[in-house]
Amino acid sequence: MAKIILVDDSASARKLLGLRLTEAGHEVVQMASASEAAEMALASPPNAIVTDLFMPGVSGLQLCRLLRSEPATAHVPVVLMTASDDRRSRFWARHAGATAYVTKSEFDKLIDVLRQATATAEPRGGPVSLGAPMRGTVQERLSMLLDAALFESTIAGELRALGHKADDLERMFEELASLASDVVEYRWLSLITEQSPRLLIHAHVDTKETAEREARDALAVHPPPEPERRRAAAGVQVTVLADTRASDAEWSSAPLLGSIKFGATKLGSIAIAPARRGASNDDRRFMSLLSSELGGPLQMVALVAEARRLANTDTLTGLLNRRAFVESIEKARAKNDPAVFPLSFLLLDVDHFKKVNDTRGHDAGDAVLQGVARVLTSMARKTDFVARWGGEEFVVALTQTAEAGARVAAERVRRAIADTKYPLPNGDSMNATASVGLASAHAHDWNLEELLSRADKAMYAAKNRGRNRVEVA
Ligand code: GH3
Ligand code: MG
Ligand code: MG
Repeated sequence: MAKIILVDDSASARKLLGLRLTEAGHEVVQMASASEAAEMALASPPNAIVTDLFMPGVSGLQLCRLLRSEPATAHVPVVLMTASDDRRSRFWARHAGATAYVTKSEFDKLIDVLRQATATAEPRGGPVSLGAPMRGTVQERLSMLLDAALFESTIAGELRALGHKADDLERMFEELASLASDVVEYRWLSLITEQSPRLLIHAHVDTKETAEREARDALAVHPPPEPERRRAAAGVQVTVLADTRASDAEWSSAPLLGSIKFGATKLGSIAIAPARRGASNDDRRFMSLLSSELGGPLQMVALVAEARRLANTDTLTGLLNRRAFVESIEKARAKNDPAVFPLSFLLLDVDHFKKVNDTRGHDAGDAVLQGVARVLTSMARKTDFVARWGGEEFVVALTQTAEAGARVAAERVRRAIADTKYPLPNGDSMNATASVGLASAHAHDWNLEELLSRADKAMYAAKNRGRNRVEVA
């Protein structure tokens, strides 16, 4: 015989249902309120609880959530009942952890559900001693549950919002650090991404070296602690965000670790070093939220970065494309950091390139273009911009380079292109030359269109004067 607690605020409903359950062979304890039922269930867990959904005071849903959260009753089946069937109640019943949801007219279904739910369990005799002392009244426990739910839903919401607050990883991490500093106290917070690994650390200005060492230790060996992984971690790009919002406390308690996934794909790992001796419950809850919620934002940031890269890159050569080149120049000019002017453009056009295609094939032509791109990239400084202008034309923007210096650079580039042996897909190699047009501008006479047009004219002049040469506009 199974012991069942039946909860309903309506005396007549209780009586009717109680009778039917007793007839079905159950031992039924009737309760008029969810809080009484909760007290009783916690003191002496029954085999099942059948409860009305809507009741004044504590509702059936709240009762269900409460029982689920307490170790003594976490596994007691709870059947929720309402007068009518409706989707919303079903939804909440499912999310409160109810075993089943039945309408009050479905007696047979209720009996079935109870038979299944109680088949494995016999009534437990006597009160079960809880590991921890009873933590306050039912109302107090419910408020604690509500607080926990509020903490979780608020933080989860904020974490998910990171995906549309920032569109690059570093900005997202800054936002994350700002949120984390508001919620928990830590010495450092660190994130490592799985693909093209980047290690980001948020730590107090005074303790950033220690933080970096600890974060590297914590994340590089977790999991799995393979030597290759350690080696890989030694070469990752590291960004330390030094900020007084992180704590400079001296405790070195073990960091909490979590992995971040999007679907089945692991995107990264996160670690947080609590600023106290041992992690608090809030620290742990925060870490578990980081782990469960950061996947979406991180994936979003990665997708945006990839889309941006694809939109800006010429697929054949990997150089900037024309649009991205113009954008980069305008951006650098607007920021003026580093100083762009004087600015010189080299416009290069491969000589008799049509003949390469015609005699060696299109693939060979492609290989030559890739080779020229490599030459240009290898010769450019970090602050220069190299792009494929289109077809067999390339453009190089030399920042902080006036005409005299640019002539030297252009001549060097021309010679390098001519001196290179370009390997072809069929194993052969060949030479190529390019004609180079040079034009320079200062901040006061800056006009992108005009500069490009001058460089273009100069390039045609180089063609007309015999090719494989530099002309200045
Ligand atoms: P010039 O010395 O006067 O510049 O002669 P050219 O043959 O290089 O000039 P033209 O503009 O007549 O020919 C350019 C050729 O470049 C034509 C086009 O088919 C080829 N081309 C453009 N883009 C690509 C590409 O991506 N791959 C290959 N293989 N060929 C390309
Ligand atoms: Mg051309
Ligand atoms: Mg050409």
